[in-house]
Order: sequence, then C-alpha cells, then structure tokens
Amino acid sequence: MISFWEKTALLKKDFIVIGGGLTGLLTAIELAFKFPEKDICVLERGILPIGATTRNAGFACFGSLSELYHDLLKEGETKVLELVEQRFRGLQKLLQITGKKAIQYEPFGGYELIDDKHIAAFQHIEEINQKLYTLFKKSVFQVVDNKITSYGFNQNVINHLVYNPLEGQLHSGYLMKRLQKIATQKGVTVLTGANVSKIENNQSTEQVIVTNETWRKPLIFEAEHVFVCNNAFASALCPELKVQPGRGQVLVTEPIYHLPFKGSFHYDEGFIYFRNLGNRILLGGARNQFLMSEATDRIETTSEVISYLQSFLHQVILNGESVAISDTWSGIMGFGETKLPIVQSIRPTLHVAIRFSGMGVALASHAAEQVVQLI
Ligand SMILES: Cc1cc2nc3c(=O)[nH]c(=O)nc-3n(C[C@H](O)[C@H](O)[C@H](O)COP(=O)(O)OP(=O)(O)OC[C@H]3O[C@@H](n4cnc5c(N)ncnc54)[C@H](O)[C@@H]3O)c2cc1C
Repeated sequence: MISFWEKTALLKKDFIVIGGGLTGLLTAIELAFKFPEKDICVLERGILPIGATTRNAGFACFGSLSELYHDLLKEGETKVLELVEQRFRGLQKLLQITGKKAIQYEPFGGYELIDDKHIAAFQHIEEINQKLYTLFKKSVFQVVDNKITSYGFNQNVINHLVYNPLEGQLHSGYLMKRLQKIATQKGVTVLTGANVSKIENNQSTEQVIVTNETWRKPLIFEAEHVFVCNNAFASALCPELKVQPGRGQVLVTEPIYHLPFKGSFHYDEGFIYFRNLGNRILLGGARNQFLMSEATDRIETTSEVISYLQSFLHQVILNGESVAISDTWSGIMGFGETKLPIVQSIRPTLHVAIRFSGMGVALASHAAEQVVQLI
C-alpha cells in the first residue's frame, strides 16, 4: 500500500527518464539545464546500470576507414556524413559536459589495422578524406605503416595501419560516476532498482508502472513527459520501436611489460576493437562472426567468442606472444536498419532516444539534446 506522503510527493514528477545509462543521464541533465525548476527523475532497473554504458570499450570514436567505406557504399554520402557529424559533435558536447580529467579522457588517437579483406577501403583513403574535409577541414586518415612493426602487430596479416588523430579513449566507469554526480547536483533524482514494466497514457500525463521485489504491488509514477532511454530494451516498453539487441563481449589482459602502443584500434569495419588500458589490452567484438548467438539481450560471455578474441590477441596483436586474461564481460547494444539513432515522440507526452548501433558514447549527448527539443 502506498502512503499519503509517497503518493503526494514521491510518485508525482514533472519529467521521468527511463534508463540510467549514458543517454538517460544526459537527457536528465539536458532537461535540468533547460527546466531548472522541474522535478526530474531517472528510473533505472539495475542497482548499477546494466546495458551498454558501463560495459563498453570506452572509445571516443566516430568511424574507422573501412567502416565508413562500407557505410558509404550501403547508405550513401549524405547519410554517412550526417552520422559522422552527429558522432563528432556528440563527443565534443560530452567532453564539454563532463570535462576530460574526471573521465580519464586520453587523446591518443585511433588506428585501423588493414588486412587483405579491406584493401579496397585503403585504396579509397584519399576519396574518403575529401568527403570528410567538409566536416573537419583536414585529412582525417593518415597512413602510418612504419608503426606496424614498432607496435608489434603480425605483418603477415596486417598490410597497412591508418591513423586518425581525432579519436580518444575514456574510462566508462568514471564517465558514469561523473554523469551521476552532475545529474544529482542539478537536482535530478536517480532511482535504481526501478524496473519499468509499462507506460500508460492518462490523458495529459503518462503513468509509469514500476515493479520491484520489495514492493508487493507495482508502483505507479506519474509525469507530464516521459523519455524512454533504455536503448536495446526499448521495444519491451514500446513495441512499435524497431530495435534489435546485439551482445558485445570484451576481455582485458593482465598488465604487459613495455606494451608498445597507446590508442584505440579498429579492425574489420570496427567489428573488432582494442585499446591500451594503462599497460593492459582491452579487446572486444567479433559479433559479426557469431551473428545468430549474439543477437540476444542475455548479459553473459560465451567460450566461443572469448576464444575467438583470444586467438586474435595471440596471433595478430601480440604476433605469437601469450598473455593471461584478467577480466571478461559483456554488454548489450541496440541495432536497427540504419546506424542513425531513433529520436522521436510517440505521442505528445512520450518521447524516445534509443538505438545507438554500438557507438553511443559519441551519439548520446546529441540525441539527448534532440529529444529534449521535442517538448
Ligand atoms: C561491449 C560494448 C562495447 C562498446 N564500445 C563502445 C565504444 O567504445 N564507443 C562507443 O561509442 N560505444 C560503444 N558501445 C556502445 C555504447 O556503450 C552504447 O551505445 C551506449 O552506452 C548506449 O547508452 P544508453 O544509455 O542509450 O543505453 P544503456 O547503456 O544500455 O542504458 C540503458 C539502461 O536502461 C536500463 N533499462 C532497461 N530496461 C529498463 C526498464 N524497463 N526499466 C528501467 N530501466 C531499464 C538498463 O538497465 C540500462 O542501464 C559499446 C557497447 C558494448 C556492449
């Protein structure tokens, strides 16, 4: 049973944001900037957020050469430039909000390892640089083949190395901590353990039904506007939204004495990615090799994917050397027909910002800004 105090003060909000990941917190912060007098609440199902934000690789990137080449063939120039611009602007805005130090942002740059399979993308490097010139006013992709040996990669597999000075890396745990702190300082309430099971329209307001084991009956929150920011899990609340979950698995090595590289590295159109994490290697991806089994929202790792990643680590990155693994985990991304996110109103009081296709670190702040503009 609900008390009078709960009913009158704690369950009625001006704005409710569903999902306490990157997008949910950035949306709540954007709302707090724009409407400082409003009562804003984030409802997160986990004790810690449990989707993609705190389980990702921490790349601050906007698309590798072979990924953009592939997307240009598939989606055309206009869409790809729009996507790259949204990602780059999003990254700049994110850094503006959080600052660099608090999230351990490091501007080490990004690289792509090119093998035989992606030689066509490499041959189009100048053409792609020209297309990106309108956005960046400089050549983004530079050939740095001399580093293949000094970074210790397997030269029998890797033919070229392409550098992008505009990319960086960050600590995803500190990013979450920083956003939670900013949201709280702005007066946003973040409630965890709040699993939203349903959203119902009640004329001029929305009712948000929350289940939690501690409460025998569902709690009903009410708000003027509701923002769905739960990415891969959105179609459970709004079945009309087309979003497919896709799992990403990650491993981290034990420290490596004299690790020869720093930066964020892409391979195979970005399906495989690795970076230095201090003097360890974080490596993830290969979802495209296991498309059926990874089209899931189950947050667990599988021996098939982790073994595949370990073999890439051993054969390509470390050129035959071995290193022990200290951590493995997985997270869930949201995919659809295009890589552009869905930012729209479902009805005048219900709005969504979801489906970040594995690059939400870059896209979320832009999407948060856009979704708040809908009200
Ligand atoms: C392994 C991996 C590596 C990645 N690497 C990168 C990278 O290097 N760079 C990059 O840009 N992007 C990367 N991404 C993608 C990026 O992390 C996501 O696009 C981004 O975090 C999406 O943020 P979000 O807040 O929209 O979603 P999420 O972080 O998934 O947050 C959604 C939240 O909603 C909550 N939720 C779900 N359903 C409900 C409900 N019914 N009620 C209440 N709460 C609910 C979940 O618990 C979750 O905390 C990676 C993703 C993965 C999985």
